[in-house]
Amino acid sequence: MPTSDVAYFICPNCQDRSIDADGIDGLSHQQVGCRRCGFGFLFQMLDDYFPHADAGMVACDAAGRVIAAGRGVFDLTGYRELDLIGRPVVEALGLHSFDNGDPMETAREWGVRQLGRAAMLRHAAGLDKRVVVDVFPALDDDGGLLVALASRPA
Ligand SMILES: [Zn+2]
Repeated sequence: MPTSDVAYFICPNCQDRSIDADGIDGLSHQQVGCRRCGFGFLFQMLDDYFPHADAGMVACDAAGRVIAAGRGVFDLTGYRELDLIGRPVVEALGLHSFDNGDPMETAREWGVRQLGRAAMLRHAAGLDKRVVVDVFPALDDDGGLLVALASRPA
């Protein structure tokens, strides 16, 4: 069975995963919304991905500006979607102290996912929080990113 026909999707809001093995159910286009929560679009991935338990996801455009913040982002960061929309993701979330360079830049430059990257996040309350960052480049031509954040144990 050719794996190239399998498309993986994740909802940036509720993190519901879906797999389109052959296009029969009509999920072959990224602009189809989430069947579970009604969110406006699904993010297509090259391989399946299992989010961390307390993860929050932020979708960004090609310039790294936030276009959507999903469930879990507020609990993790203290920021509401309206605080983040339109702002560069690194600045909006106060991300700093990356383990080995900015994983958003790396994902964008090389077009490959970055998993388990360590960083610090400036919580809306002003405290630094340890986070793990997973970044996925969009597979289509618009060049966006999906950024998944979760807390990182000390
Ligand atoms: Zn959803």
